[in-house]
Amino acid sequence: MADYLYTLEMRLSPDQQRAVTLLQDTARAAGMNVYLTGGAVRDIITGFAIRDLDFTVQGNALKLQKELERAGAEVVATDDDLKTLHLSLSGGVRAEVSTARTETYEKIGKPPLITPATIIEDLRRRDFTVNAMALSLNPGSRGLLMDPFNGVADVEAKLLRILHNYAFVEDPSRLIRAVRFSARFHWPLEERTQARFNAAKENNYIEHISRAAIGAEIEQLAYEDDPLHILHALEKENWLKVLVPHWSTSKVDAAGLNTLLKARQQMNELGYSPNPAPAVMYFLTARLGEKDIADMRKLIPRKDLVEAWKDLEDNAKELAKRLCGKEAATPSRTWKLLSDARPEMVLFLSATARQQTVAQKIRNFFTKWRQVQQKIPLPEMTELHITPQLPEYSKIAHDVFMLLLDGKLRSRTETLKFLKPLAPPPPPPPAPRRGRWAKGSAAEATVAAAQAPGKKRTDAKAKTLAVPAAPAPQSPATDKPKPPRPSKRKAAGRPAGKVKKKKR
Ligand code: ATP
Ligand code: MG
Repeated sequence: MADYLYTLEMRLSPDQQRAVTLLQDTARAAGMNVYLTGGAVRDIITGFAIRDLDFTVQGNALKLQKELERAGAEVVATDDDLKTLHLSLSGGVRAEVSTARTETYEKIGKPPLITPATIIEDLRRRDFTVNAMALSLNPGSRGLLMDPFNGVADVEAKLLRILHNYAFVEDPSRLIRAVRFSARFHWPLEERTQARFNAAKENNYIEHISRAAIGAEIEQLAYEDDPLHILHALEKENWLKVLVPHWSTSKVDAAGLNTLLKARQQMNELGYSPNPAPAVMYFLTARLGEKDIADMRKLIPRKDLVEAWKDLEDNAKELAKRLCGKEAATPSRTWKLLSDARPEMVLFLSATARQQTVAQKIRNFFTKWRQVQQKIPLPEMTELHITPQLPEYSKIAHDVFMLLLDGKLRSRTETLKFLKPLAPPPPPPPAPRRGRWAKGSAAEATVAAAQAPGKKRTDAKAKTLAVPAAPAPQSPATDKPKPPRPSKRKAAGRPAGKVKKKKR
């Protein structure tokens, strides 16, 4: 049996892992069973990126709100009918916590009757087999995969299959979802699903799509890796207009979007993870009328996305202004300004900046100035015991970098001259111990003394017990070379290798 827990841990980012632990602990404390569901389970198996986390609890998810907020989660939207929480968690992790439910559809175009249910019943109301799996996060069954429709087989076959013949009739938004997933994964619809899809299209069931589903589908587009590709696929079916009446791919600023996605890639490679969704919405709707945009915003469930999208241009203007002002008069000040700015704003500005100065500063921030970091003399700093173990290490390293950026340390000699007075005093040798280990301890003390830069060995015992410095003191008994003691040397913040008495 596949070890899904292991795969889960391997595939999730540290922030996503923390989110899983948070949900697991919160639900447990509330006496509810919790499962990872939806796309995260699918993508653990497919290997595609895990975009967001969908949790389902057996019990009322809304009851977890206070506890989650206390733990730092931001509730960005709630759905009182479906008893679902939309969360924004540390590190920008998006999560949804829904109440396990059944949905009974009585009439076309009418919302279903909702009743609380078990997880297995809940899986039956889902859209595709690959999305109808749950992974238990509960003690006793943690890691157990529930897969009543054999979604794993469809993941392996790379097929999208509906759960029953009425899937598209009951909820026509599944038509849009089918196109979106098919375009994203490049997976076809399974034969019977394709036939039902064609029939639903012929009967124009899409006109019964709910406003809530439209909002959810628009929102999902903002998080796609290649949103324009999805828009093209939806347009081909004539369904982009179902989401927004005047929307078409010609309303997209494709060049801007492309620049944005490239800048995002570059930022990701440098270790930043800006949320591109607001900027993606900006470019996807660049040529759309104000009214259509306003309507779209009303429909999107996550209000944090809407607010960020609305504020994007003003915030970017503000940042651009600051980048042209005194606050960014030197490279080091610009570095600080850009480092402190929200990565989303830097990302957006890097794709939209018109002023040459602004564009150049952002370019320098991502390329040229980073190369200056390589001029920080790390080996020499280590020799001076300016190592990460030192409490003031970050500040010293930062100060050197800032001075290098501004060209105030023009050579290695100048840099070392700056660093030397900042070196810490040598560590005192450990006091000799008595008893069984006394000999070893004294030897260590001697080694430490030998290693301590600038320390004169006046101690008689040290002289007499003087052992050759590491590495590999020979054992007289066995004559076998002993390995050096990397752990002790590492703990002392020194490089492994030969120990020489340093002149200072
Ligand atoms: P991703 O988040 O990667 O886009 P996802 O499958 O997780 O994909 P979400 O929109 O996050 O998609 O929905 C989470 C889960 O909720 C889905 O996997 C599916 O099980 C269920 N779901 C969402 N919308 C529908 C729907 N219209 N009909 C039935 N089930 C749905
Ligand atoms: Mg999801």
